[in-house]
Amino acid sequence: MTTHHTKLLILGSGAAGCTAAIYGARASLAPIMVHGMQPGGQLTITTDVENFPGFEHAVQGGWLMEQMEKQAANVGTTIIHDTIVKVDFSQRPFTCIGDNGDIYTGDAVVIATGASARWLGAPGEKKFQGFGVSACATCDGFFFRGKEVVVIGGGNSAVEEALYLTNHATKVTLIHRRDSLRAEKIGQDRLFKNPKVSVIWDSAVEEFIGTENPDNLTAVRIKNLKTGAVIDYKTDGAFVAIGHTPNTELFDGQITLDADKYIVTVPGFTKTNIPGVFAAGDVQDKIFRQAVTAAGTGCMAALEAEKFLAH
Ligand code: NDP
Repeated sequence: MTTHHTKLLILGSGAAGCTAAIYGARASLAPIMVHGMQPGGQLTITTDVENFPGFEHAVQGGWLMEQMEKQAANVGTTIIHDTIVKVDFSQRPFTCIGDNGDIYTGDAVVIATGASARWLGAPGEKKFQGFGVSACATCDGFFFRGKEVVVIGGGNSAVEEALYLTNHATKVTLIHRRDSLRAEKIGQDRLFKNPKVSVIWDSAVEEFIGTENPDNLTAVRIKNLKTGAVIDYKTDGAFVAIGHTPNTELFDGQITLDADKYIVTVPGFTKTNIPGVFAAGDVQDKIFRQAVTAAGTGCMAALEAEKFLAH
Protein backbone atom coordinates (compact mmCIF):
# COMPACT_ATOMS: atom_id res chain seq x y z
CA MET A 1 0.00 0.00 0.00
CA THR A 2 1.47 3.33 -1.10
CA THR A 3 0.32 6.89 -0.49
CA HIS A 4 0.63 9.23 -3.46
CA HIS A 5 0.25 12.95 -2.86
CA THR A 6 -0.19 15.59 -5.53
CA LYS A 7 -1.39 19.15 -5.85
CA LEU A 8 -3.76 18.05 -8.58
CA LEU A 9 -5.39 14.64 -8.62
CA ILE A 10 -7.26 13.72 -11.81
CA LEU A 11 -9.73 10.85 -11.84
CA GLY A 12 -10.28 9.41 -15.32
CA SER A 13 -8.19 9.37 -18.48
CA GLY A 14 -10.55 10.28 -21.31
CA ALA A 15 -10.41 13.51 -23.29
CA ALA A 16 -11.36 15.57 -20.20
CA GLY A 17 -8.87 13.90 -17.84
CA CYS A 18 -5.97 14.03 -20.32
CA THR A 19 -6.57 17.68 -21.14
CA ALA A 20 -6.78 18.61 -17.45
CA ALA A 21 -3.50 16.71 -17.00
CA ILE A 22 -1.79 18.55 -19.89
CA TYR A 23 -2.82 21.96 -18.54
CA GLY A 24 -2.13 20.97 -14.92
CA ALA A 25 1.35 19.68 -15.75
CA ARG A 26 2.19 22.79 -17.77
CA ALA A 27 1.13 24.87 -14.75
CA SER A 28 3.74 22.95 -12.68
CA LEU A 29 1.13 21.19 -10.57
CA ALA A 30 2.78 17.78 -11.22
CA PRO A 31 -0.61 16.08 -11.54
CA ILE A 32 -1.39 12.44 -10.95
CA MET A 33 -3.96 11.00 -13.34
CA VAL A 34 -5.60 7.73 -12.26
CA HIS A 35 -6.67 5.77 -15.34
CA GLY A 36 -9.94 4.26 -14.16
CA MET A 37 -11.87 1.29 -15.51
CA GLN A 38 -11.64 2.25 -19.18
CA PRO A 39 -8.25 3.83 -19.91
CA GLY A 40 -8.69 6.51 -22.55
CA GLY A 41 -12.44 6.61 -22.01
CA GLN A 42 -15.21 6.22 -24.52
CA LEU A 43 -13.17 7.38 -27.52
CA THR A 44 -11.20 4.15 -27.29
CA ILE A 45 -14.31 2.21 -28.31
CA THR A 46 -15.12 4.32 -31.36
CA THR A 47 -13.53 4.08 -34.79
CA ASP A 48 -13.35 7.11 -37.06
CA VAL A 49 -13.30 10.50 -35.38
CA GLU A 50 -13.74 13.26 -37.92
CA ASN A 51 -14.96 16.10 -35.73
CA PHE A 52 -11.96 16.60 -33.44
CA PRO A 53 -10.23 19.71 -34.82
CA GLY A 54 -6.65 19.51 -36.04
CA PHE A 55 -6.76 16.53 -38.39
CA GLU A 56 -7.39 16.82 -42.09
CA HIS A 57 -8.73 13.28 -42.31
CA ALA A 58 -10.56 11.06 -39.83
CA VAL A 59 -8.38 9.61 -37.06
CA GLN A 60 -9.03 6.51 -34.97
CA GLY A 61 -10.45 7.15 -31.49
CA GLY A 62 -8.00 4.75 -29.84
CA TRP A 63 -5.03 6.40 -31.51
CA LEU A 64 -6.25 9.89 -30.54
CA MET A 65 -6.44 8.86 -26.88
CA GLU A 66 -2.99 7.25 -26.98
CA GLN A 67 -1.64 10.54 -28.28
CA MET A 68 -3.45 12.56 -25.61
CA GLU A 69 -2.10 10.34 -22.86
CA LYS A 70 1.45 10.46 -24.22
CA GLN A 71 1.18 14.23 -24.45
CA ALA A 72 0.01 14.41 -20.82
CA ALA A 73 2.93 12.18 -19.73
CA ASN A 74 5.49 14.12 -21.78
CA VAL A 75 4.63 17.41 -20.11
CA GLY A 76 4.92 15.93 -16.62
CA THR A 77 1.83 13.97 -15.58
CA THR A 78 2.23 10.82 -13.53
CA ILE A 79 -0.22 8.27 -14.92
CA ILE A 80 -1.27 5.41 -12.68
CA HIS A 81 -3.21 2.30 -13.70
CA ASP A 82 -5.68 2.01 -10.88
CA THR A 83 -9.41 2.34 -10.29
CA ILE A 84 -10.65 4.47 -7.43
CA VAL A 85 -13.13 2.60 -5.24
CA LYS A 86 -13.70 5.13 -2.44
CA VAL A 87 -13.40 8.88 -2.03
CA ASP A 88 -13.49 11.23 0.95
CA PHE A 89 -14.03 14.86 0.03
CA SER A 90 -15.07 15.88 3.55
CA GLN A 91 -11.54 16.82 4.61
CA ARG A 92 -8.32 18.07 3.07
CA PRO A 93 -6.28 16.92 1.35
CA PHE A 94 -9.03 15.12 -0.56
CA THR A 95 -8.53 11.37 -0.31
CA CYS A 96 -9.21 8.63 -2.85
CA ILE A 97 -8.54 4.93 -2.37
CA GLY A 98 -7.54 2.67 -5.24
CA ASP A 99 -8.54 -0.88 -6.02
CA ASN A 100 -5.29 -2.28 -4.62
CA GLY A 101 -5.43 -0.21 -1.42
CA ASP A 102 -3.17 2.64 -2.58
CA ILE A 103 -4.13 6.04 -1.22
CA TYR A 104 -4.19 9.13 -3.41
CA THR A 105 -4.39 12.55 -1.80
CA GLY A 106 -4.85 15.78 -3.71
CA ASP A 107 -5.01 19.45 -2.74
CA ALA A 108 -7.42 19.79 -5.65
CA VAL A 109 -9.29 17.11 -7.58
CA VAL A 110 -10.63 17.00 -11.13
CA ILE A 111 -13.34 14.37 -11.58
CA ALA A 112 -13.34 13.20 -15.21
CA THR A 113 -14.81 9.72 -14.84
CA GLY A 114 -17.09 10.06 -17.88
CA ALA A 115 -20.19 8.06 -18.62
CA SER A 116 -21.01 4.44 -19.52
CA ALA A 117 -23.31 2.77 -22.01
CA ARG A 118 -26.89 2.24 -20.89
CA TRP A 119 -28.75 -1.09 -21.22
CA LEU A 120 -32.42 -1.75 -21.89
CA GLY A 121 -32.90 -4.05 -18.92
CA ALA A 122 -35.04 -6.41 -21.04
CA PRO A 123 -35.13 -10.16 -20.31
CA GLY A 124 -32.25 -12.03 -21.91
CA GLU A 125 -30.10 -8.93 -22.38
CA LYS A 126 -27.66 -9.80 -19.64
CA LYS A 127 -27.72 -13.53 -20.33
CA PHE A 128 -26.70 -13.05 -23.96
CA GLN A 129 -24.09 -10.34 -23.36
CA GLY A 130 -21.01 -11.65 -25.11
CA PHE A 131 -23.18 -14.24 -26.87
CA GLY A 132 -24.81 -11.93 -29.38
CA VAL A 133 -25.68 -8.88 -27.28
CA SER A 134 -23.23 -5.96 -27.11
CA ALA A 135 -23.07 -2.22 -26.47
CA CYS A 136 -19.98 -1.64 -28.57
CA ALA A 137 -19.99 -2.24 -32.31
CA THR A 138 -16.35 -1.33 -32.70
CA CYS A 139 -15.39 -3.87 -30.04
CA ASP A 140 -17.58 -6.74 -31.20
CA GLY A 141 -18.65 -5.96 -34.78
CA PHE A 142 -15.93 -8.16 -36.20
CA PHE A 143 -17.60 -11.24 -34.73
CA PHE A 144 -20.62 -10.63 -36.94
CA ARG A 145 -18.85 -10.84 -40.26
CA GLY A 146 -21.29 -12.21 -42.84
CA LYS A 147 -24.14 -12.20 -40.29
CA GLU A 148 -27.29 -10.17 -39.63
CA VAL A 149 -27.50 -7.72 -36.76
CA VAL A 150 -29.86 -5.20 -35.20
CA VAL A 151 -28.99 -1.89 -33.53
CA ILE A 152 -31.34 -0.41 -30.94
CA GLY A 153 -31.57 3.38 -30.54
CA GLY A 154 -32.04 6.53 -32.56
CA GLY A 155 -29.19 8.84 -31.56
CA ASN A 156 -25.77 9.50 -33.04
CA SER A 157 -24.33 6.42 -31.36
CA ALA A 158 -26.97 4.12 -32.86
CA VAL A 159 -26.46 5.57 -36.33
CA GLU A 160 -22.67 5.37 -36.10
CA GLU A 161 -22.80 1.81 -34.78
CA ALA A 162 -25.21 0.78 -37.54
CA LEU A 163 -22.99 2.30 -40.24
CA TYR A 164 -19.89 0.74 -38.74
CA LEU A 165 -21.58 -2.66 -38.63
CA THR A 166 -22.29 -2.51 -42.38
CA ASN A 167 -18.52 -3.13 -42.77
CA HIS A 168 -18.97 -6.59 -41.26
CA ALA A 169 -22.60 -7.69 -41.35
CA THR A 170 -24.65 -8.53 -44.44
CA LYS A 171 -27.74 -6.80 -43.07
CA VAL A 172 -28.18 -4.16 -40.35
CA THR A 173 -31.61 -3.31 -38.95
CA LEU A 174 -32.01 -0.22 -36.80
CA ILE A 175 -34.87 -0.51 -34.29
CA HIS A 176 -36.13 2.76 -32.88
CA ARG A 177 -38.97 3.50 -30.49
CA ARG A 178 -40.20 6.60 -32.36
CA ASP A 179 -40.79 7.52 -36.01
CA SER A 180 -37.78 9.84 -36.34
CA LEU A 181 -34.14 9.73 -35.32
CA ARG A 182 -32.45 12.27 -33.08
CA ALA A 183 -29.07 11.67 -34.77
CA GLU A 184 -27.42 14.46 -36.81
CA LYS A 185 -28.74 14.83 -40.34
CA ILE A 186 -25.42 13.94 -42.00
CA GLY A 187 -25.44 10.56 -40.22
CA GLN A 188 -29.09 9.95 -41.04
CA ASP A 189 -28.43 10.66 -44.72
CA ARG A 190 -25.59 8.16 -44.77
CA LEU A 191 -27.71 5.60 -42.97
CA PHE A 192 -30.73 5.87 -45.24
CA LYS A 193 -28.51 5.70 -48.34
CA ASN A 194 -26.78 2.51 -47.24
CA PRO A 195 -28.33 -0.49 -49.02
CA LYS A 196 -27.47 -2.85 -46.15
CA VAL A 197 -29.52 -0.84 -43.64
CA SER A 198 -33.24 -0.97 -42.93
CA VAL A 199 -35.16 0.68 -40.09
CA ILE A 200 -38.01 -0.61 -37.94
CA TRP A 201 -39.85 2.42 -36.54
CA ASP A 202 -42.05 2.88 -33.46
CA SER A 203 -40.83 -0.33 -31.91
CA ALA A 204 -39.35 -1.49 -28.63
CA VAL A 205 -37.24 -4.57 -28.01
CA GLU A 206 -38.96 -6.46 -25.23
CA GLU A 207 -36.82 -9.55 -25.01
CA PHE A 208 -33.59 -11.10 -26.25
CA ILE A 209 -34.20 -14.69 -27.32
CA GLY A 210 -31.71 -17.46 -27.98
CA THR A 211 -30.44 -20.95 -27.43
CA GLU A 212 -29.04 -22.41 -24.22
CA ASN A 213 -25.84 -24.45 -23.94
CA PRO A 214 -24.35 -23.02 -26.00
CA ASP A 215 -25.94 -19.62 -25.30
CA ASN A 216 -26.51 -17.79 -28.55
CA LEU A 217 -28.82 -14.96 -29.47
CA THR A 218 -31.18 -15.92 -32.29
CA ALA A 219 -33.89 -13.22 -32.25
CA VAL A 220 -35.23 -10.10 -30.58
CA ARG A 221 -38.89 -9.81 -29.59
CA ILE A 222 -40.15 -6.47 -30.90
CA LYS A 223 -43.37 -4.73 -30.04
CA ASN A 224 -44.81 -2.13 -32.37
CA LEU A 225 -45.75 0.65 -29.98
CA LYS A 226 -48.45 2.01 -32.28
CA THR A 227 -50.25 -1.21 -33.22
CA GLY A 228 -49.24 -3.41 -30.29
CA ALA A 229 -48.14 -6.16 -32.71
CA VAL A 230 -45.32 -8.39 -31.40
CA ILE A 231 -42.88 -10.24 -33.62
CA ASP A 232 -39.73 -12.29 -33.08
CA TYR A 233 -37.17 -10.77 -35.43
CA LYS A 234 -34.40 -13.19 -36.37
CA THR A 235 -30.90 -11.84 -35.77
CA ASP A 236 -27.38 -13.02 -34.97
CA GLY A 237 -26.42 -9.96 -32.98
CA ALA A 238 -28.04 -7.05 -31.13
CA PHE A 239 -26.21 -3.81 -30.37
CA VAL A 240 -27.77 -1.63 -27.70
CA ALA A 241 -27.03 2.07 -28.33
CA ILE A 242 -29.50 3.98 -26.17
CA GLY A 243 -27.29 6.50 -24.45
CA HIS A 244 -25.16 6.67 -21.36
CA THR A 245 -25.16 6.94 -17.58
CA PRO A 246 -22.64 9.18 -15.81
CA ASN A 247 -20.02 7.34 -13.75
CA THR A 248 -20.82 9.03 -10.45
CA GLU A 249 -21.74 6.18 -8.10
CA LEU A 250 -18.52 6.82 -6.22
CA PHE A 251 -19.46 10.42 -5.50
CA ASP A 252 -23.11 9.94 -4.55
CA GLY A 253 -23.62 11.50 -1.12
CA GLN A 254 -20.29 13.36 -1.29
CA ILE A 255 -20.97 15.84 -4.04
CA THR A 256 -24.11 17.42 -5.49
CA LEU A 257 -25.57 15.38 -8.37
CA ASP A 258 -28.63 16.26 -10.46
CA ALA A 259 -31.72 14.09 -10.91
CA ASP A 260 -29.95 12.08 -13.66
CA LYS A 261 -26.86 11.64 -11.42
CA TYR A 262 -24.64 14.00 -13.40
CA ILE A 263 -22.31 16.17 -11.27
CA VAL A 264 -23.67 19.68 -10.90
CA THR A 265 -21.17 22.40 -11.82
CA VAL A 266 -21.47 26.17 -11.55
CA PRO A 267 -22.72 27.43 -14.96
CA GLY A 268 -19.77 28.54 -17.08
CA PHE A 269 -17.27 26.84 -14.75
CA THR A 270 -16.24 23.35 -13.66
CA LYS A 271 -16.56 24.10 -9.94
CA THR A 272 -18.67 21.64 -7.93
CA ASN A 273 -20.32 22.36 -4.58
CA ILE A 274 -17.01 21.45 -2.86
CA PRO A 275 -14.32 24.14 -3.23
CA GLY A 276 -11.26 22.48 -4.76
CA VAL A 277 -13.19 19.67 -6.47
CA PHE A 278 -13.87 20.25 -10.16
CA ALA A 279 -15.72 18.12 -12.71
CA ALA A 280 -15.03 17.94 -16.45
CA GLY A 281 -16.28 16.01 -19.45
CA ASP A 282 -19.26 13.67 -19.75
CA VAL A 283 -19.57 13.18 -15.99
CA GLN A 284 -21.06 16.69 -15.82
CA ASP A 285 -22.33 17.15 -19.36
CA LYS A 286 -25.51 15.57 -20.65
CA ILE A 287 -25.99 18.01 -23.49
CA PHE A 288 -22.91 18.14 -25.71
CA ARG A 289 -20.93 14.99 -24.78
CA GLN A 290 -18.32 15.52 -27.48
CA ALA A 291 -14.60 14.79 -27.30
CA VAL A 292 -13.84 18.42 -27.98
CA THR A 293 -16.21 19.72 -25.27
CA ALA A 294 -14.78 17.18 -22.81
CA ALA A 295 -11.29 18.44 -23.67
CA GLY A 296 -12.51 22.02 -23.31
CA THR A 297 -13.95 21.47 -19.85
CA GLY A 298 -10.80 19.51 -18.88
CA CYS A 299 -8.79 22.61 -19.73
CA MET A 300 -11.17 24.80 -17.71
CA ALA A 301 -10.95 22.47 -14.70
CA ALA A 302 -7.14 22.59 -14.63
CA LEU A 303 -7.10 26.39 -14.98
CA GLU A 304 -9.69 26.73 -12.21
CA ALA A 305 -7.74 24.29 -10.01
CA GLU A 306 -4.56 26.29 -10.59
CA LYS A 307 -6.31 29.47 -9.47
CA PHE A 308 -7.84 27.69 -6.47
CA LEU A 309 -4.44 26.34 -5.39
CA ALA A 310 -2.77 29.73 -5.82
CA HIS A 311 -5.19 31.22 -3.29
P1 NDP B 1 -28.71 9.83 -27.18
O1 NDP B 1 -29.20 10.11 -25.79
O2 NDP B 1 -28.47 10.95 -28.11
O3 NDP B 1 -29.73 8.86 -27.89
C1 NDP B 1 -30.23 7.73 -27.26
C2 NDP B 1 -31.21 7.06 -28.19
O4 NDP B 1 -31.66 5.87 -27.58
C3 NDP B 1 -32.42 7.93 -28.48
O5 NDP B 1 -32.80 7.82 -29.81
C4 NDP B 1 -33.47 7.35 -27.54
O6 NDP B 1 -34.75 7.40 -28.07
C5 NDP B 1 -33.07 5.91 -27.46
N1 NDP B 1 -33.42 5.32 -26.17
C6 NDP B 1 -33.09 5.76 -24.93
N2 NDP B 1 -33.59 4.94 -23.99
C7 NDP B 1 -34.24 3.96 -24.65
C8 NDP B 1 -34.96 2.82 -24.24
N3 NDP B 1 -35.10 2.50 -22.96
N4 NDP B 1 -35.50 2.03 -25.18
C9 NDP B 1 -35.35 2.34 -26.49
N5 NDP B 1 -34.69 3.39 -26.96
C10 NDP B 1 -34.12 4.20 -26.04
O7 NDP B 1 -27.43 8.92 -26.95
P2 NDP B 1 -26.21 8.64 -27.92
O8 NDP B 1 -25.39 7.65 -27.18
O9 NDP B 1 -26.62 8.31 -29.27
O10 NDP B 1 -25.44 10.00 -27.96
C11 NDP B 1 -25.05 10.62 -26.74
C12 NDP B 1 -24.40 11.95 -27.06
O11 NDP B 1 -23.16 11.74 -27.72
C13 NDP B 1 -25.24 12.83 -27.99
O12 NDP B 1 -25.09 14.16 -27.60
C14 NDP B 1 -24.62 12.59 -29.33
O13 NDP B 1 -24.79 13.68 -30.21
C15 NDP B 1 -23.17 12.39 -28.96
N6 NDP B 1 -22.47 11.58 -29.96
C16 NDP B 1 -21.77 12.22 -30.89
C17 NDP B 1 -21.08 11.53 -31.85
C18 NDP B 1 -20.32 12.32 -32.87
O14 NDP B 1 -20.41 13.54 -32.88
N7 NDP B 1 -19.55 11.70 -33.73
C19 NDP B 1 -21.06 10.06 -31.90
C20 NDP B 1 -21.88 9.46 -30.87
C21 NDP B 1 -22.55 10.21 -29.93
P3 NDP B 1 -35.52 8.81 -28.27
O15 NDP B 1 -34.92 9.45 -29.48
O16 NDP B 1 -36.92 8.40 -28.46
O17 NDP B 1 -35.29 9.57 -27.01
